Amino acid sequence: MPISLSDLRTCVLDMDGVIWTMDDPVPGAAEAIARLKALGLSVSYLTNNSSKTRMDYVRKLSGFGIEAAEGDVMTSAYATSLLLAKEGAAGARAYVIGEQGLRDELGAVGIEIITNADEPDVSLVVVGWDRHFTYDKLAAAHGYIVRGGARFIATNRDATYPDAGGRTLPGGGSIVAAVATCAGVEPKTIGKPEPHALLLLLEQEGLRLDQCLVIGDRLDTDIALGRRWGAPAAMVLTGISTLEEIEATPSDLRPDMVAKDLPALVATLEA
Ligand SMILES: [Mg+2]
Repeated sequence: MPISLSDLRTCVLDMDGVIWTMDDPVPGAAEAIARLKALGLSVSYLTNNSSKTRMDYVRKLSGFGIEAAEGDVMTSAYATSLLLAKEGAAGARAYVIGEQGLRDELGAVGIEIITNADEPDVSLVVVGWDRHFTYDKLAAAHGYIVRGGARFIATNRDATYPDAGGRTLPGGGSIVAAVATCAGVEPKTIGKPEPHALLLLLEQEGLRLDQCLVIGDRLDTDIALGRRWGAPAAMVLTGISTLEEIEATPSDLRPDMVAKDLPALVATLEA
């Protein structure tokens, strides 16, 4: 479906592969974002990375010349915390496989973080990206789910994470898969392509999915998010997915628009 600027009220941007790759800026990205704002669109940022806090991203964006407020940033860790809080999880005890960003966000909504195996009354196992993942952590999560009946929540299921030089590293989804395999249970997943984090962002602004342009570099998360749930989706070629992969994707999951980078995407929208 062609995207018309006049139908849009907001843009939700993935960051890694769109605004930067690792620590290198995409040339012209900051100016392109300023142009979107000048056109009257609000801009927010949505990442599946659960390892950092929203303020970490505000600082990183600022370092690339992009001013954002904490409320403009949604991470899978924050979305997980908000959804659990909405469901009344404040005061619950959660065994967490994840990094500081996830622990901080869960703690901020009153969830008690458990770090040892075999503690009593653990009702949640929350799993995200954890670069210090071990067999002992897997065994603890397994015990809480299988013996303790804890609910299994995944921040996201990205199989890989971009690394320098176009290489990839194992992503949070590979750790989630390990827990799912031994526990014999599939998790409730919060991050892209599931709709929860995007819906929380739109709820803040009182906007509908069809008023929101999702911009990302990855077919299986960013583009699938838009196409599955009814938001226009635009893909840039500065990140993970390629033109060849678009051709191999079923037509109902292909991006509505493709551009070589964010500045080219904004120029095409304006044309
Ligand atoms: Mg990305």
